[in-house]
Amino acid sequence: MVKRVAIIGAGVSGLTSIKSCLDEGLEPTCFERSDDIGGLWKFKPDVEEGRASIYQSVIMNTSKEMSCFSDFPMPEDFPNFLHNSKLLAYFKIFVKKFNLLKYIRFQTTVLSVTKRSDFSATGQWEVVTENNGKEARDVFDAVLVCSGHHIESYVPLKYFPGKLGEKTINQLISGILLSVFCMQSTGMSTWESTM
Ligand SMILES: Cc1cc2nc3c(=O)[nH]c(=O)nc-3n(C[C@H](O)[C@H](O)[C@H](O)COP(=O)(O)OP(=O)(O)OC[C@H]3O[C@@H](n4cnc5c(N)ncnc54)[C@H](O)[C@@H]3O)c2cc1C
Repeated sequence: MVKRVAIIGAGVSGLTSIKSCLDEGLEPTCFERSDDIGGLWKFKPDVEEGRASIYQSVIMNTSKEMSCFSDFPMPEDFPNFLHNSKLLAYFKIFVKKFNLLKYIRFQTTVLSVTKRSDFSATGQWEVVTENNGKEARDVFDAVLVCSGHHIESYVPLKYFPGKLGEKTINQLISGILLSVFCMQSTGMSTWESTM
């Protein structure tokens, strides 16, 4: 019998997982709590609790040659370092090309993943999801967790004495992000140039 695989999240990790499952003859079902693909590369101007997002001006700090899916190069006319909107466009081309959309259940949040009582014999998992206020349970042979890693913010205000307004906090976060981004870019360029 074909093995059923639950995939949590339709960001880039989830999308490539769907395709890999199909390549291996598995049956994927991807649960995505938002209404679109792309994960944090889907820019939205408003901050949403529990959702990671890039900021509007983000340009990738990894080149398109190093960042593309190994079996699906980026379009020739795309620049080497893409604006976030171009990267999202690339994900959409990928999804269309391999017909992945039909495996994604949008606006469906995974609430829990637990081993079934007969796990030692079957290796199966129970996945509980919520869509539009309705809960559903389903059984899968495997679960791929592609839920991202930038959701919980860490704002170390206790190390900064004084009173901070919202504007200052935003400036502080932008400053930290910019520093990390610059360090990453320098590291990545050095790494890429040695390849
Ligand atoms: C500012 C910034 C710049 C970056 N630049 C680069 C770069 O240039 N190059 C690079 O390689 N990497 C970069 N990264 C790293 C980035 O993490 C990866 O590029 C990539 O987007 C991670 O994809 P993901 O699918 O793992 O996670 P995400 O894109 O975070 O996607 C996770 C998805 O899971 C969904 N989800 C989460 N929980 C649930 C749940 N319980 N139920 C259902 N759905 C759920 C979310 O809605 C989301 O769609 C950058 C990151 C940031 C923040």
